[in-house]
Amino acid sequence: MKLNPNYRNLQDSYLFVRIAKKVSDFAAKNRDAKIIRMGIGDVTLPLPAASVSALKQAAAEMGEKKTFRGYDDNQGYDFLKNSVSSYYRQKNVEIDNSEIFISDGAKSDAGNILDIFSPDNTVLIPDPVYPVYVDTNIMNGRKIVFTNGNESNGFLPMPDENISADIIYICSPNNPTGAVYTKEQLTQWVEYAISQNAVILFDAAYEAFVRDENLPSSIYQIKDAKKCAVEICSLSKTAGFTGTRCGYTIVPSELEIDGISLNRMWLRRQNTKFNGVSYIVQRGAEAVFSQDGQSQTKENISYYLENAKIIRKALTERGIWFVGGIHSPYVWLKCPGGIDSWEYFDYLLEKINIVGTPGSGFGKNGEGFFRLSAFGNRENVEEAMDRMQRESY
Ligand code: PLP
Repeated sequence: MKLNPNYRNLQDSYLFVRIAKKVSDFAAKNRDAKIIRMGIGDVTLPLPAASVSALKQAAAEMGEKKTFRGYDDNQGYDFLKNSVSSYYRQKNVEIDNSEIFISDGAKSDAGNILDIFSPDNTVLIPDPVYPVYVDTNIMNGRKIVFTNGNESNGFLPMPDENISADIIYICSPNNPTGAVYTKEQLTQWVEYAISQNAVILFDAAYEAFVRDENLPSSIYQIKDAKKCAVEICSLSKTAGFTGTRCGYTIVPSELEIDGISLNRMWLRRQNTKFNGVSYIVQRGAEAVFSQDGQSQTKENISYYLENAKIIRKALTERGIWFVGGIHSPYVWLKCPGGIDSWEYFDYLLEKINIVGTPGSGFGKNGEGFFRLSAFGNRENVEEAMDRMQRESY
């Protein structure tokens, strides 16, 4: 009997555990300190009212014999797929319902989609990035090549013809940097992927934060992307569904490798291993795309974006280099004075009682950088930025 040996190659996911330990130790010794947490990647505003009433109504339907539903055997109800495809139509993208797979969130699909690829593939992952891409590929024993995000490319690495890759991860707007690719930049990635016969896994979890129509919020706004890209999206950050759980993955019917349809393979995989998202949650998700749902979610996102603007203003006034925070809830800053990410973490916690996330937790290129999240409440963000402006490192 053998366990999966690849798990031995995983690093302990100590980042948030270490943060929590440092914060609780500090709080225990400094009971009067008002600690402001800006490290979280979780939303704080409640669900849109439109979703809450849809969830309640759907729950009531499940309690009536006439309207009760059992298994959803179509990888998502058409009512929700229709809403998703009309949402894409607003982005000038045509998606057929058969290309939409309703999921319980982006994290599971980002990991599960690897089932349909060979473990022999080489995977290209930006550094720094959302750690799930790296860990799920290590679990599968796949060879990982990193593409470097840094100050000089604004944390938006571009393809290198000398590197060959089979699977390419792109996350835009990016976690942790908040950086967003332009259409021209994504076009280069699509051309590179097609030249490599590679598949792009495009993580659009933060697409709703893109407020400039000239910036892509879907990879399918790029010519030929349907020939090479899978898009993974979620209502977690869009509509506060982190605890409610619903997302969607688009696998275009045009996407084929050596004449084999990835859409069919993914359908086969999902039909075998996934029994779908609850009817109640799918109704709640449908309501996100209703007129009321859209205006309520836009309002919540505007609130976070305003928080991000307050952070950006404070950093600009302090002369601290940063990216992100315009079409993203994350601001990625350069630790002042050339100190490392954990030193800056300790400094902020001990001197001004602010908690952020050390950039080194997102990859080696994150060393010397730091993520601040705008998902908190306004008063706290304002107070935190006042403290930052008063105390110079
Ligand atoms: N993708 C990115 C880039 C994220 O930052 C997150 C969550 O933080 C996810 C996916 C996971 O989203 P979900 O809650 O839909 O699983």
